[in-house]
Amino acid sequence: MNFDQAVSQRVAAVSESATLAIDGKAKALKAAGEDVIGFGAGEPDFPTPAHIVEAAARACADPAMHRYSPAGGLPALRAAIAEKTARDSGLAVEANQVLVANGGKHALFNVFLTLLDPGDEVLLPAPYWVSYPEQIRFAGATPVELPTDVSTSFRVTVEQLEAARTPQTKAMVFVSPSNPTGSVYLPEQVEAIGRWAADAGIWVITDEIYEHLVYGDAEHVSMPVVVPDVRDRCVVVNGVAKTYAMTGWRVGWSIAPASVTSAIARLQSHATSNVANVAQAAALAAVSGPMDAVAEMRATYDRRRKLAHERLNDIDGIDCPLPEGAFYAFPSVRGLFGREIGGRRVDSAQTLCEVLLETVKVALVPGEGFGAPDCVRLSYALSDDDLVKGLDRMADALA
Ligand code: PLP
Repeated sequence: MNFDQAVSQRVAAVSESATLAIDGKAKALKAAGEDVIGFGAGEPDFPTPAHIVEAAARACADPAMHRYSPAGGLPALRAAIAEKTARDSGLAVEANQVLVANGGKHALFNVFLTLLDPGDEVLLPAPYWVSYPEQIRFAGATPVELPTDVSTSFRVTVEQLEAARTPQTKAMVFVSPSNPTGSVYLPEQVEAIGRWAADAGIWVITDEIYEHLVYGDAEHVSMPVVVPDVRDRCVVVNGVAKTYAMTGWRVGWSIAPASVTSAIARLQSHATSNVANVAQAAALAAVSGPMDAVAEMRATYDRRRKLAHERLNDIDGIDCPLPEGAFYAFPSVRGLFGREIGGRRVDSAQTLCEVLLETVKVALVPGEGFGAPDCVRLSYALSDDDLVKGLDRMADALA
């Protein structure tokens, strides 16, 4: 039997996540005993802070946690997320607006499926995180890419948004700090875009998963805080993965008008039911606990970002803007195209990444999957030793 024909058109149209693919390759090589430096995965290298792990251990021993719980999240966690949102970004929300999902990725999937119909268009600034266009298409809608480049620090403008708006435009995706570019919008830019969306009656899905990871003068501001008029058509997505080094625990959430949250809860009740209670207990300890570990991790990323920026720009053919947030460097490698590297002619980011993995065992993510074929993404959320080792290997290979 040809199983390809058994797969639905909807799923057949979805491509594999470029970031998970490179990470999978790197991990497989590592498992086979190769000394691979993985710049691919977007995940902190730190263990989850101890007080969070302890809360999870206590939850394991609590029989109430062994049972189904409400599909939309443990009431205590929904309330704590509402409190944390007021504390961190200044947005006042009620617990019934919060929906706890299996990670920010699942929260976004829920949101797109709940808001979008076939024929709807979603404005998507590029470079974008790989899952947005796939999820939007999965919901039957069309992602409309708005290209940005290093000359505007990868920030989309109101003019671009307005030029791309059609009667079918239902929503836009906004993410700051950004994965993959590491850029952060200025407060006045967030305000201008929010005003435009509110005036145009367009939904904003604002992904705030990197809110705590901003460096130097960069500042995270939440769009519905600076533009209250956008709140009726705004969904904030967030999670514990990046801030608290909790990628594997799989807890994220959406915050939307209460009626939209009820609709998302209906969807989730038929898809996954509740997120694992133990992970929710860990998330509760994270969002309501001390932030010292977060501050320490941020200081470490800040140091590493400067190192990565400097070392990458030392390589002839690589042009790297200084990342302002998240934990990614997103250099242009266009200057390397046409060169012979490791016995192969490099004419795309994809080929460069293949060559670097094969020859010096360094895993980077090619920009094609992010809608940026001239760039590659490096996560600098890896140990200092590995960071230096990986950059040395790149410098040698590209000398
Ligand atoms: N949003 C952005 C911009 C991300 O980079 C990621 C993870 O890489 C997510 C959402 C989803 O995070 P998680 O599903 O691990 O909570």
